[in-house]
Amino acid sequence: MRDSHTSEWSAQLDGKPAAEILAWAARRFAPRVAFSTGFGPEGCVLIHLIAEQSLPIGVFTLDTGLLFPETIELWQRLEARYGIPIRAVRPALSVSEQAEAYGEALWIRDPDRCCGMRKVAPLHGELAGVDAWITAIRRDQTRFRAHAAILEPEPGSDRLKINPLVAWSSDDVWSFIRDNDVPYNVLHDRGYPSIGCAPCTSPVSAREDPRAGRWRGREKTECGLHAPIAVPVQLMMSSRSEGA
Ligand code: SF4
Repeated sequence: MRDSHTSEWSAQLDGKPAAEILAWAARRFAPRVAFSTGFGPEGCVLIHLIAEQSLPIGVFTLDTGLLFPETIELWQRLEARYGIPIRAVRPALSVSEQAEAYGEALWIRDPDRCCGMRKVAPLHGELAGVDAWITAIRRDQTRFRAHAAILEPEPGSDRLKINPLVAWSSDDVWSFIRDNDVPYNVLHDRGYPSIGCAPCTSPVSAREDPRAGRWRGREKTECGLHAPIAVPVQLMMSSRSEGA
């Protein structure tokens, strides 16, 4: 059903500003639409646009328990600045429970499994309750994202993925942040262009790819949120969702 409309909706939205795409998503899908943010600069832009228009789009973040203190601080600043709650969606196991079950520092030995439990399974659990989810991905972030479209039907579900910033460049994002005084993570000013969990993120030099500091030294470039990886079903069923 949704697939049959996607081409028509894509044609309507092609070339439209991100604010209009978000407003369309709210009109079409609210209350069954949500924005999942990892507090990157793109996510901060979308939070600004959602709040500016008072759109009925729920915002949540995957709180892995391993975020940088600076990311937590940004989370609080965004809630205070825009007056909207950003809900925490948490994994079934705390960091210490995961260590007991799978050993210390699973992110070093098996980062795909760690991301599967701490990010992908909680995301899938949360998305089971919506018909559309908004993401902050841009085409030029990774090779997996190079062909992303504004609207993407999710394989195996009736859900639609909406990517309002897909055609934006990094310069577009930072210009918007500067022009609108949007809060952003202070780590971006300290050599961290892309920020995930603290154990898997390092600063990069000016000559490196902006995402070179994510899972440094490994082939891995994605958590699996935007590229399918195996999800343990039992953990999908028991991820937790709480207020921030
Ligand atoms: Fe685990 Fe690292 Fe993935 Fe965070 S980014 S969930 S610590 S592997």
